[in-house]
Amino acid sequence: MGSGFLEVADQVFVARYPQWDVNVGLVLGRDGAVVVDTRASSLQGFEVLDDIRRLGADIEVRHVVNTHVHFDHTFGNGAFTAATVHAHANVARSLDADVERIKSLFRADPGDGPEAGYTSRDVVEVLATAVRAPDSTFGHSATIDLGNRVVTMTWSGRGHTDGDISVHVADAGAMFLGDLIEESAPPSFGQDCWPLEWAGTLTEHLGWLDADSVVVPGHGSPVDAEFVRSQRDAVATVGQVIRERRAAGWSLEAAVAEPDSRLPYALDRLDSAFRRGWLHAAQDGGDAAASTSATASTASSARPGPD
Ligand SMILES: [Zn+2]
Repeated sequence: MGSGFLEVADQVFVARYPQWDVNVGLVLGRDGAVVVDTRASSLQGFEVLDDIRRLGADIEVRHVVNTHVHFDHTFGNGAFTAATVHAHANVARSLDADVERIKSLFRADPGDGPEAGYTSRDVVEVLATAVRAPDSTFGHSATIDLGNRVVTMTWSGRGHTDGDISVHVADAGAMFLGDLIEESAPPSFGQDCWPLEWAGTLTEHLGWLDADSVVVPGHGSPVDAEFVRSQRDAVATVGQVIRERRAAGWSLEAAVAEPDSRLPYALDRLDSAFRRGWLHAAQDGGDAAASTSATASTASSARPGPD
């Protein structure tokens, strides 16, 4: 980790940084470069720019894409002054609130230390960052023309957040999926996840992949379509257990506490999944009482992790 950009497909690079173990992508074309995600502070964004210059002094970053709203993917945007920042419309809509949410979490509990992979200095930089919002947003899909190749950004539904997109470089068989997929940890079900819709969203993105595709997750090593399919199935199982318990009339507090051997991830990582799933199932079914109780008790772990 931290060794700079490695080529994972033709003129498609990934750098993996130790703080929050986050990936940054770089797509080179005749008419400039696209950076995919920008790390967790302005300072970290400038470090990305330094790594890009080490790769090639003449590389011009003309575009930045945010795969979703979370701080470890957006806070470095401001470093790329010559670039247009692209994101889904829901990222632009929720950015200010998410910036405040994550900053207050860090103020309450920095959670730093060797085991966390980041230091108090990193937290200071997060808190000091004035986050640059996207300049260009879209609803379903948009493209970036680099002259000799096209990069396609596609929103196929909600999942890890309501604004996750894929970034597809079709000629190279490479796709960035942000935190819709994670390789170095289980997928993150946070306070803004959509657990009942996530698997369906991944199925849509899978339609663009084949056996040779290289898929870059938000965190961890590049994977293939089979990995995505398998994690999609695991996420689907989480949604299925939530739906079953909701339909069987369980209380939310019983549902978040009761193990099920089918669940692919530890229960304490699924607390927000159950609470959010309860809320969404209630909204689908028009159940106002359940909706209210699920809203009242959102958010489990206060400690900021990879987001
Ligand atoms: Zn995230």
